[in-house]
Amino acid sequence: MIDLHTHTTASDGTDSPFTLVKKALATGVKTLGITDHDSTAGWSEAISAMQPQIELVLGAEISCLTDDGISVHMLGLLFDGENFGMQEMLAQSRDTRLPRMRKMVALLQADGFDITLDDVYQAAPDQATIGRPHLADALVNKKIVASRDEAFSELLHNESKYYVTHAAPTPIEAIKTIKSAGGVAVIAHPFASRRGQILTADTFQELVTAGLDGIEVHHRDQNDSERSVLTSIARELHLAITGSSDYHGTGKLNALAENTTDPTEWEALESRANARRVVKL
Ligand code: AMP
Ligand code: ZN
Ligand code: FE
Ligand code: FE
Repeated sequence: MIDLHTHTTASDGTDSPFTLVKKALATGVKTLGITDHDSTAGWSEAISAMQPQIELVLGAEISCLTDDGISVHMLGLLFDGENFGMQEMLAQSRDTRLPRMRKMVALLQADGFDITLDDVYQAAPDQATIGRPHLADALVNKKIVASRDEAFSELLHNESKYYVTHAAPTPIEAIKTIKSAGGVAVIAHPFASRRGQILTADTFQELVTAGLDGIEVHHRDQNDSERSVLTSIARELHLAITGSSDYHGTGKLNALAENTTDPTEWEALESRANARRVVKL
């Protein structure tokens, strides 16, 4: 099984990279993508947990904003982890998440919620890319809400008065940076409408012009009709089709390998990287 999109404690997942690789082995995943938000901090620990039965596709999920303010997630896979432009883009994104979190906490405090920035840091593992899930965990620790899910549905969703965006590259900038670093770019859950406004079908062409390689079609946040529209777009634009779990440990319901990528699609996608970077023992 091929699962190309998962998270660890290097961002907002709850399993360490080591544990994730062990769980993937136990689940029968043969090709595992590790795609923490705006970070490659989990890569080396993941490699240390490898066995001959599993290969790793190292990557990152890059938070992007279109010029119209639409949030887009771009998976960069198989890029050179030492590429300066790539690491600079990831670092900028992580840096702007701190003032953003400070603003969200201040908005909550102004409405009387007993929460501090320190509470959020305490809820986040060392090295983690700080995000709303850590704020959610802090709100759970303070017994303000019962779960991450409740925190999102009540207080932290994209339309909430407490939501603040952080500076982020545009999807086109992210694609270009991923491609300059030799990797492949796959747009993550583009029609996941529950999260807010989504791209329209006609914007995919300009992403392809920038170098887009694939579309994540099979994802729990996209229903059958959305998947079918995305499949047609991918076929028409000669893009690879992926499926993945977007596993976050206990942070979300998503089970490892609940959606997977067809081996033929994976082969086509992998061949578009500028070097063979799948990590095998
Ligand atoms: P951020 O990058 O800080 O804006 O936070 C976005 C993250 O929140 C994404 O990784 C999502 O997976 C996560 N997320 C969104 N909705 C929920 C939810 N209802 N429960 C748990 N995590 C969520
Ligand atoms: Zn996440
Ligand atoms: Fe995402
Ligand atoms: Fe994700």
